[in-house]
Amino acid sequence: MQQRKRRFGEWLQELQLVESEQIEAALREQEMHPDYLGEILIRRGLIAESVRDGILILQKLLGTSTRLSEMEILPETLQAIPPRLAHAHSVFPVLQVANCLVVATSQPDDPVWQAALAERTGLKLYPVSFRASDIEMALATFYTTQQARASTGLDWISDQVPDPGPRLTFVGSGDALGSGARNQTCLHIRSKEATFLIDCGPTSLTALKQMDLSIDEIDGALMTHGHGDHFAGLPFVLLQQITQNRSRPFWIMAPQHLLDHLQAFQEMCYPGLFQLGLFEIRYLPIEDEPRPVPGTSIMVYPFAMDHMRTRLCLGYQVHLAEEKIVAYTGDTAWGEHMVNLARDTDLLVTECSYYEPGHPDAKHLSYQEIFEHRDLLKTKRLILTHMGEDMLARASETAFDTAFDGLVIDL
Ligand SMILES: [Zn+2]
Repeated sequence: MQQRKRRFGEWLQELQLVESEQIEAALREQEMHPDYLGEILIRRGLIAESVRDGILILQKLLGTSTRLSEMEILPETLQAIPPRLAHAHSVFPVLQVANCLVVATSQPDDPVWQAALAERTGLKLYPVSFRASDIEMALATFYTTQQARASTGLDWISDQVPDPGPRLTFVGSGDALGSGARNQTCLHIRSKEATFLIDCGPTSLTALKQMDLSIDEIDGALMTHGHGDHFAGLPFVLLQQITQNRSRPFWIMAPQHLLDHLQAFQEMCYPGLFQLGLFEIRYLPIEDEPRPVPGTSIMVYPFAMDHMRTRLCLGYQVHLAEEKIVAYTGDTAWGEHMVNLARDTDLLVTECSYYEPGHPDAKHLSYQEIFEHRDLLKTKRLILTHMGEDMLARASETAFDTAFDGLVIDL
């Protein structure tokens, strides 16, 4: 993978100015894996939701979803942005691919500066609305503060990175089969009171490290159901805590049967190790009553889903102290429980294994079912995840946002 990225990066440099159709055709020729653009931005911590919007716009323009790891903004482009313009309109280039430049700005509707900048750079501009604080944060992360000031002339860039508020990162957006070469399910939520995972598929520890998310900072994990693609990464996250000499407790919240199962699984993975009590693991059963995340005002509301025949599978609403409600289905078939789970939420993350309804025994959701019932899902925003191959192939046709590994949502 690493080698493929490097080759692609070199190829992009040779590309110079080409039309987006050509990029798309070249992507096909090079057999690039159809994944998502902007990994580099995400890795650099440039992960505000508004950045993602820029990426999505570019994806639409390119007619593809693409992982372009070697993407950079060319120094000439930065130099072409006069300090006066940057200052007055909070202009910041986010992403440059060939002749397309996504520009973050606090004034996306003003055509005058856009015309001026397009002329100076010779690039097609795609302005995306940013709050000034986001731009400041982006600059501060993208460069050192000094470099940022020097290369942009924005002397108001401060050393302080503003607090982005509660944030959800898709550590794993794949299904059990790793469709689309995605990581298996894992969500990461960072809020002012706690940082925790929801589900922890086998690929999670590596993915957390790839995304520069601190393992040490994780307070606990909320688990939806007893399928390996949702829990089998947990022993490794716990193992990492041992090597880091963790002393504070780690909580695991799940239905009782899954807590029992997890303890047995940990024992199978590393016999005796977790019995040593090197740090405390708190097992917190949750079934039909809400319960708080330990030591916080965060409340977790369980909703029984329809997935495993003989075991309780839960979806969760997490009510954060910042007055944001995030819901996640885990795995489930369609039913009235989806309506209850979605109600009054700021964000609903829902599994979407198939495009068309699958075999009824499979007990998963399809895009068509979600779309058909969309008016019943009273959420401010809906994001599809846990997509199988047929769903991924048609993801660009969908009416909803789709997750990808590394996607960050500022709640
Ligand atoms: Zn699953």
